[in-house]
This record gives sequence, C-alpha cells and structure tokens, in this order.
Amino acid sequence: MKDSFVSIYNDKVDLKFPKDILLYDTTLRDGEQTPGVCLKQNEKLEIARKLDELKIHQIEAGFPIVSSNEKKSVKKIVDEDLDAQIICLTRANTKDIDAALDCGVDGIITFMGASDIHIKYKVNKPKDDIINMCMNAVDYAKDHGLFVAFSAEDATRTDLDFLIKLYTQAQEHKADRIHIADTTGSISPYGMEYLVSKIREKIDIQIALHCHNDFGLAVANSIAGLTAGASAISTTVNGIGERAGNASLEEIIMALKLLYNIDLGYNTEVLYELSQLVSKYTKIPTPGSKAVVGKNVFRHESGIHVDAVLEEPLTYEPYLPEMVGRKRKLILGKHSGCRAVKAKLDGLNIKIDDDKLITIVQHVKKSREAGEYITDEKFCEIIDKIGLRD
Ligand code: MN
Repeated sequence: MKDSFVSIYNDKVDLKFPKDILLYDTTLRDGEQTPGVCLKQNEKLEIARKLDELKIHQIEAGFPIVSSNEKKSVKKIVDEDLDAQIICLTRANTKDIDAALDCGVDGIITFMGASDIHIKYKVNKPKDDIINMCMNAVDYAKDHGLFVAFSAEDATRTDLDFLIKLYTQAQEHKADRIHIADTTGSISPYGMEYLVSKIREKIDIQIALHCHNDFGLAVANSIAGLTAGASAISTTVNGIGERAGNASLEEIIMALKLLYNIDLGYNTEVLYELSQLVSKYTKIPTPGSKAVVGKNVFRHESGIHVDAVLEEPLTYEPYLPEMVGRKRKLILGKHSGCRAVKAKLDGLNIKIDDDKLITIVQHVKKSREAGEYITDEKFCEIIDKIGLRD
C-alpha cells in the first residue's frame, strides 16, 4: 500500500532545486528567543541529541555571549560529539567570536543589521564602517579555523546594492556561506525568488535563508528561495521563535519530501517525539491544527471521514501518520456514525450485536452534545449504562 498520496499536479511545474540542500536548525537559538522561553542545559542537550537522531546537518546551538550558562550549554552540546555540525551565533565582533571559540564550535553565524532602519535606529554607524566591522569579524573567525556564515540581518528590507556589497565582500574574505535573514518575515515567496536570484548572480558560495513567519509564509519563502539558488535553510521545531516564529522544521522536511520529491535523508519517524520534547521544555503548547505535529492532524471524527479512512486512510490523509512517528486516532463525537463506533468497540475488544450499534451512536452524540468528551472510559461507561454489553 502507498504511504502517501499528494496532488498529481505538483510534478507539472519544472522547478530547479539545488543538489545539496542542507537544513540548519535554530530551535536552540532563535527558538529559545521566543518570549518567556529559557531552556536548561540538560534540556538543550536532550533536544540537540534528538535533532541529531533526526540526522539534521547543522545545529545552531545558541548565542554564547548572552550568558555564562548559555556558553556552558553550547559547550556541552559540542562535547557530546554529535554527527551534526555545531554552530552558534555571534555579533560581528571579536568578543563574541572568542566566546564561540571557547565553546569549541565548528562554526559561527556572524551577523550585522543591514537595512537603513536597522542602521539608523540600532547600528548607528556609516556603511563603510559597518562593512569593515563585518569583514574584520569574518577574517578573525576564518583565521581561527571556523566555518563562517555571514548574515545580513533584515536583508529583505535592505537596499540591494548595499546587500550585494556586503555579500561580495564576505565572499572575498572567504566566508563559507552568506545568510539572507528575513528578520521581520515580510517578504513574499515571489519577492524571495527575485532577491535570491539577484544575489546568486554575484555570489558563488552557499546561500542560506532565515525566514520568519509573520505572514505565515516562512516555509513557502524558504522553498521559493531554494528554487532560485539558495541551498541552506534555517528551521525551528514547531516553528517557534521570535514573534510569529520561524520556518517549521517538520513542515519543511515533509513538504520537500512529499510535495517536491526531495528526500534529504532525515529520520522523519522522530519528528513527533522531537516536537513533543521541544513543546515540553519550552512550555509552548503546539496548536491542535499545527501541520505535521498538531494533535488533530491524524484524528478523525466526522462519520463520512471515519468511514472512508477505515477503508483507505489516504482518502483523507496526504500521508500515513507512522511516517512522522504518529498514530491515527478516531474520535467519537457528535459527527460519529456506526462505523466509528464499531471500530472503537473492536479496538476495545467489546462484542456487541450490530443491530445495537445505532443506539450506542445516539448515546454518544447525546453525551458529546451535553458537553462530555468521549474518552475510552466515557465510552465504556455509556455502554454499561445502557446495558448493551453481552
Ligand atoms: Mn531570527
């Protein structure tokens, strides 16, 4: 049996994806910058281990200069000797880079606000000075043997000439990768396609995208950027992060795999566990309708859907839950029919004549409409109450 069935029209568009796409996950850095989130060292380590189990390429483990505890967390992750490369964030100065070096990371993302609005209200320096500061940081980090990604913060609202100047300089200074940060999540997929293609004309090194989700387009923007020549994408588990969050790791992986036939070799069966782990430690509940990992994604209640799903799950699911480490659940409620009740009885190993099913269905609907949730316990109670058990 097939384990997925997506739109037959996806293959009709000829898209050019780069060969080696890489994900670098920033749950432990941007994700932790979600207001109210503060991860303990062992929690960060546990999440890093699970990301490694997924086979993520790079883990952005933190921002070492933030605190001595943060620095210890990053170092602890480095010492774990995972398969994933461990990188961290630094501003474009030697103090931050020294803190990263103390942790023993494989590489850094060094950033600088690049847009006029960031320069005016935050950086407060002439553009030439900004370029010098950035390149000094790139040189310093390269001299110390680090993998260096140079990130222009707020790149999607930055004048293209200045942006290209920064990136071409970074390339000349032997940066390994440049990052386009959509810091306010304010570009559209078509805008991203344009921007990346313009930068690709001038830049030969790897281009990475860091997309925020302020308009709900972080995943779409990331994928659009890939088709225009970017080949690295930043993600967070459950899409957490500053404000509306970042491009969601699980959504990117599953969309690339199933909608675009790009299998990056991830162990997708751990996605659900990973999601729950992050939700537990960040104390951010995952919305029920959140793609891939939300509680309701593989739950069915309506009689019409349940009937069909029991016959063939792909009638109402684009892929089987096992693919992301989950199980399907049939929920009894006001939309339930005989088929769902029969399946529930079978699941609980309760034998009841088929001609009594309709009575149970009516009681289930009534109980639900009276405000009760039909858990397995409640369901058994209903059956006992109406005395139908053989
Ligand atoms: Mn960010």
